[in-house]
Amino acid sequence: MDASSSVNSVKKSPLLNRQIPIVTRSVKGKFRTFKTAVMVIAYSVYFLLPWMPWERSTGASQALLFDLDARRFFIFDLVVYPQDIFWLAMLLFIAAALLFFTTGLIGRAWCGYFCFQTLWTDLFIMIERMIQGERPARLRLMKQPWNAEKILKMGASHGLMVLVSFWTGVTFACYFTYAPDFIPRLFNGSAAEAGYITVVVLTITTYVAAGLSREHICTLACPYARFQSVMYEADTLAVAYDAKRGEGSAGRKAPAKGLKTREERQASGHGDCIDCGFCVQVCPTGIDIRDGLQYQCISCGLCIDACNTIMDSVGSPRGLIRYDSEQNLASSAPHAPRMEWKRPKVLGYAAALVIATGILFYNIGSRHATEASVQQVRQPLFVMLSDGSVRNRYQVNIINKTEHEQRYELRVQGIPPNALDIGHIPQIRVRAGKTLSLNAKVDLSAEQARNTKEFSFIIIPTQAEAEPVVVKTNFYSH
Ligand code: SF4
Ligand code: SF4
Repeated sequence: MDASSSVNSVKKSPLLNRQIPIVTRSVKGKFRTFKTAVMVIAYSVYFLLPWMPWERSTGASQALLFDLDARRFFIFDLVVYPQDIFWLAMLLFIAAALLFFTTGLIGRAWCGYFCFQTLWTDLFIMIERMIQGERPARLRLMKQPWNAEKILKMGASHGLMVLVSFWTGVTFACYFTYAPDFIPRLFNGSAAEAGYITVVVLTITTYVAAGLSREHICTLACPYARFQSVMYEADTLAVAYDAKRGEGSAGRKAPAKGLKTREERQASGHGDCIDCGFCVQVCPTGIDIRDGLQYQCISCGLCIDACNTIMDSVGSPRGLIRYDSEQNLASSAPHAPRMEWKRPKVLGYAAALVIATGILFYNIGSRHATEASVQQVRQPLFVMLSDGSVRNRYQVNIINKTEHEQRYELRVQGIPPNALDIGHIPQIRVRAGKTLSLNAKVDLSAEQARNTKEFSFIIIPTQAEAEPVVVKTNFYSH
């Protein structure tokens, strides 16, 4: 073979492998039921939470509200301030650790059941099925020329998807503003510009991602699909086809005369797979799990339900496709699939998860109602007064994290009380959720200044049960 013919023989691979639209078939089974239950719970939470009232003395009476204007996040009784950014960092770390932990244990469970892309795609497929019918009817409709029926059914399906996408966007915006006020304003044109932008962007992205792109988001755009293999081990449970059982020694074969019962098939060397293709038809990413573990598989378990249905109908045991580990499938004496959690990687993820969650809860539980910080004015660092004493200046910031106005006393510790001067402020008052910055001067005699390297400000809330906050700072005299 010469070089040119060898080059010509190389097949060009298309940019997108799947150019045939995936039209999935519906299926019944425990994984489908679980997916539907997760969907119902997730949608109920997402769409109803902004409408849940919650009594509070400051801020809107909405259970979950990310009030960007006031720089406060209301999460039921918890109020989160920008200073609590550490909580967000911990939350992201916990989410990552939880994802790694579940992936190490049972593969892409997140993708198959909980990911937003999966949830919305699943809903849009249900809409298509409701309006256009089951898979054969949808395929027929797709192939037929554009006529009144096709325009009506396609238009109604996509119209409904756009409507769901629109309400998804509206709901998302409701998390950032008082929902009962936002909705009428949105429709009478008096809502904030940011509200309209959010709704438009979310409507477009939801419709494009779940209504048009669907599995391409999972297989081409999602970075997690690419690096999930790092978390996989031979013991990780994943949706897998039992090739030994399915293929036998003579391969899979459709039932035919003399190949109807399991005994007949086994006698002729054929495996339990009757090559019906049901597992492929239900797959939302359009793959054939019989080709082995593939990065496109989102572990949704629908092919398990499909195959179990077929196995029931032909009188073979269930589990030809099942959650199992690579190691168990390859074993000469496989045991019932089980979660092998006693592995260093899984235990490591679990430890990280538990420690991070503990730190977060401890931090939330031990938060003070008042936070304070002190910054020394550095230009100049100190001033020599005419009587020889030394002056340092400070900016004291007091954050009132309670839901009511708070009064404070400011004192010093480690230096004489009369060294502190905050001007003619009769009372330090900070409104709920607000920060107050006040300027303080500290004057020490030459001798005291020589002997003082640091001292503390004490911020004392006047409420009896509130704890004072002590902030150490430096005193400079040379
Ligand atoms: S192969 Fe099975 S588990 Fe994987 S995505 Fe397809 S239907 Fe879901
Ligand atoms: S559903 Fe089961 S029997 Fe049918 S093709 Fe898939 S693996 Fe084979």
